[in-house]
Amino acid sequence: MKDIVIIGYGPSGISAGIYLKRYGFDPIIIGKDNGALEDAHMIENLYGSENMSGHDLAVYGQNQAKKFGIELITDEVINIENMYEYFKIECKNHVLEAKAILLALGKSRNKFHLASKYEGIGVSYCATCDGFFYRKKRIGLIGNGVFMAHELDVLSKISSDITVFTNGEKLEVELPDGIKLNEEKIVEFYGDGHLEGIKTKTIDTKLDGCFIALGSQSGFSLASHLGIELKNTDIVVDENFMTNIDGIFASGDVIGGLLQVSKAISDGAIAATSISKYLKGKKEWFFMEIYQYIFILLPIWFIIIGVIALNLYVHKKGWYLKGTKRLLYSLFFIPSLLLAIVLLFIVNPEASPYKEVALIVKISELIAPFVASGVMMIIY
Ligand SMILES: Cc1cc2nc3c(=O)[nH]c(=O)nc-3n(C[C@H](O)[C@H](O)[C@H](O)COP(=O)(O)OP(=O)(O)OC[C@H]3O[C@@H](n4cnc5c(N)ncnc54)[C@H](O)[C@@H]3O)c2cc1C
Repeated sequence: MKDIVIIGYGPSGISAGIYLKRYGFDPIIIGKDNGALEDAHMIENLYGSENMSGHDLAVYGQNQAKKFGIELITDEVINIENMYEYFKIECKNHVLEAKAILLALGKSRNKFHLASKYEGIGVSYCATCDGFFYRKKRIGLIGNGVFMAHELDVLSKISSDITVFTNGEKLEVELPDGIKLNEEKIVEFYGDGHLEGIKTKTIDTKLDGCFIALGSQSGFSLASHLGIELKNTDIVVDENFMTNIDGIFASGDVIGGLLQVSKAISDGAIAATSISKYLKGKKEWFFMEIYQYIFILLPIWFIIIGVIALNLYVHKKGWYLKGTKRLLYSLFFIPSLLLAIVLLFIVNPEASPYKEVALIVKISELIAPFVASGVMMIIY
């Protein structure tokens, strides 16, 4: 079983992986693709990154993680089972077990096929990243609901000439004053070398840029299946980046806030620090658990040894009567057997992160009365 499995090899997952490796853990990172960076033409607002495409930045980060000796698996996680005390991560081609999980799943933006020709030349999927290029210009925003409202909030600080296109849907959120609305179905994006406008069924709107905010629920179904608390489509975390499920952490775009590389990296680093503390705490707990086992085991063995000693003494003195022997047998054998059976149900090795040790302790508890009775049979 792994200490930690990170899901997502975007900036947040990679950053967390590198920190965890430095903290002495051996993380595995699973990702299905390069995440949001794959769609980013150029990353210019990140410290140290100049004229680097999103794709190159993603690959650069992944190679850096590999150089640290971190294992990266390309696969899609389709389900996570909470086994209590550990998690089972089911991918299309792998099944992994981990004591803790970091969800660095990103937030995938749904593509709008009609706009694909103008991506990077007037069409963008990120208001925070590219809004700056359309300062005081005519902006279109395609979407509906919470994610669109979030992007609108960013864009309305950049321009006062914004038209929201719901593409045939009824508007689900309230628009601030001054924002224009077009609820007709979009039929065409047009422009020569750069986007110049959008045509809907009956309206032609001239634009300098258009943002697509068709928010998707990446990670949403994984998270909701696990019972993770969500706010709209964001995973809710505490100050340690832990979700409401003990052992499941989340970082980067998937928890909302500023959807940018710098914040995703920072989230990953802080989450890794919390995970490290969490896992070290678990190890301490393990030793506590072992002590608990010993405290439970010792009385059983004391009873057994005591009864054997008593029997030896009785035997040596030649005192024992016929019924006494049977009575002494039952005195130690029945309660200790009962205790062992009760323990078998109370302590479930399957639920322990140190299954093998827990299992050995469990078996020793069970065989203790039999060993003792064997010794007694030899004595008599
Ligand atoms: C068009 C565009 C332009 C951008 N431009 C900029 C910019 O200029 N500057 C900037 O700072 N930011 C920019 N961003 C935002 C930036 O890319 C993100 O904020 C950042 O990548 C978030 O990092 P992350 O690690 O949280 O998520 P992501 O980078 O999205 O990574 C998510 C990871 O999770 C994996 N994943 C998801 N679901 C599963 C699953 N079920 N199983 C396995 N793996 C899974 C994905 O495969 C991926 O590896 C832009 C984004 C877009 C879309």
